[in-house]
Formats: sequence, structure tokens, C-alpha cells
Amino acid sequence: MRLDVITIFPEYLEPLRHALLGKAIEKGILSVGVHNLRDWATDVHKSVDDTPYGGGPGMVMKPTVWGPALDDVCVGKSAGWQLDSAAPHVDKPRHDDLTGREFEGYVEPAEEDKPLLIVPTPAGKPFTQEMARRWSGEQHIVFACGRYEGIDQRVVDDAAHRYRVEEVSIGDYVLIGGEVAVLVIVEATTRLIPGVLGNASSHEDDSFSDGLLEGPSYTKPREWRGLAVPDVLFSGNHKLVEEWRREQSVKRTRERRPDLLEGLE
Ligand code: SAM
Repeated sequence: MRLDVITIFPEYLEPLRHALLGKAIEKGILSVGVHNLRDWATDVHKSVDDTPYGGGPGMVMKPTVWGPALDDVCVGKSAGWQLDSAAPHVDKPRHDDLTGREFEGYVEPAEEDKPLLIVPTPAGKPFTQEMARRWSGEQHIVFACGRYEGIDQRVVDDAAHRYRVEEVSIGDYVLIGGEVAVLVIVEATTRLIPGVLGNASSHEDDSFSDGLLEGPSYTKPREWRGLAVPDVLFSGNHKLVEEWRREQSVKRTRERRPDLLEGLE
């Protein structure tokens, strides 16, 4: 999978290169480009925002900068995609250097091969595990990180000519910018790509995979600060353990997220 993120704060995306995602880059499962939106700004101040039409507080991100950025990242014509790291690693080679792999650029997509453009916004569709599952099969996802009052709506409307566009919210609250939302969406999505998690089956029992929350987990020691691990987990009876886990899962879901139970058999 190829991920491209356009942002005015490239350093915010540096976590994309660490831990399991860093390993996925080394294995060639993932390739990440982080692009500074200001590279597409043409004025001397490299400005990316302007006052809103109709008045009101705050600033709106300019279509004249976002448009060319999305054009270039879509087809890879710009040198922008070579910004493969948000910030140079000071004391170690980048994942791209380690593997010697270079990104080859894009071919102009046919209609059915349009990349997916995800635009985080509090006004978007709520992000779910089901979306993460679907998007984990994508070849190329581009993220557009808004700041200030957001991006001029025409950018999103125009992008639909060359992208499949999804406006997505990660929750009913307002962040300062889209970067953290991108980290959330990327983590949830890429961990479902085969080969990214060490144990392929470890996400199969996770919360939401069967519509329920996962129940409690325990590890050694058997007793800690007067709190004991439930006896059933030492029974050696797999069927009993499975039944207990299922009960705990339903119980927790009923207590914490009864809305999830609606519509489930
Ligand atoms: N004026 C916008 C509104 O009320 O819908 C809020 C803009 S917010 C301050 C700036 C940027 O943060 C947004 O363009 C978006 O990229 C990101 N953002 C904020 N909250 C978000 C959320 N819940 N989900 C996804 N992105 C969010």
C-alpha cells in the first residue's frame, strides 16, 4: 500500500515510520510519502489560508494551493513525492535507505483505479472498524490534513474528478488539525494488512470485528495486589474459556456500548 499525506506540519506524521508501521515499510508492505503543502504555495510568504467569504472568525485553506498539491500527488508528477520522510532521522538511516527501495512514481489512474482521498473533518462520516477493514485492501490512499477552519469545499468537490473522496470524522469533538486523525485512520487500517501484525490472527478477536467489544485480558502473575485471574482461564478447557470470553464480551458491550447490540442477533 502507498500512503501520501499532505500537511503543513510534516513532523506530526513522523510516527508513521516507527514501530510496526516502520517494520511494514522495511518489509515493503507499506510505502509512505509526507508532503509539505507549502511547497505548492506560490507567494513569497508561502501562505496556504485566507479569510472566509461571508465573514466570520478564522481562516480557510486556499483551493489554489490544495488543488495543485492533490493533482501532483495523485499522479506523482511532482518532486513532492520524494519527500519520503517527514524529517531526516538524525542517528539512523531511514527505512527507505535500509531497503534500498525507491518509490517509482504513479501512472495516471484509469477511472476505476482512482486513488482513495481521505479528508478528515468533524463534519465527515464517522470512522469505523468496517471502513478500516475495507481500506486495508487499497493500493493508494492520499490524506489531506486541514487546519484553521478547514479546507475550501471546492477542493473536495474538484478532487472527486481524480479521486474517490471520503470525508471522515474520528469522533464527535474538534481537533486543531487533521494530522492526528490521519494517524488514527492509518493505524487502524494498516494493522489489518496481512503481514503487518506479527500474529496474523491477533486482530480477529479484537473489539468490533464481530460487532462487540472484547472482554478483559490477563497475564502473569496469577494473583496481583489481591486481585486474582478468573479460575476458568486455568481450566485447560478451551470450549469453556471461549464461552466465558464470549459472555464477558457481551456483558461489557451491554454495559458500555449498548448501541452496538442493536441489530445483532
Ligand atoms: N471549522 C471546522 C468545523 O467546525 O467542522 C473545524 C476545523 S478543525 C479546527 C481543523 C481541522 O482539524 C479540520 O479541517 C480537520 O482536518 C481536523 N479535524 C478536527 N476535528 C476532527 C475530527 N473530529 N475528525 C477528523 N478531523 C478533524
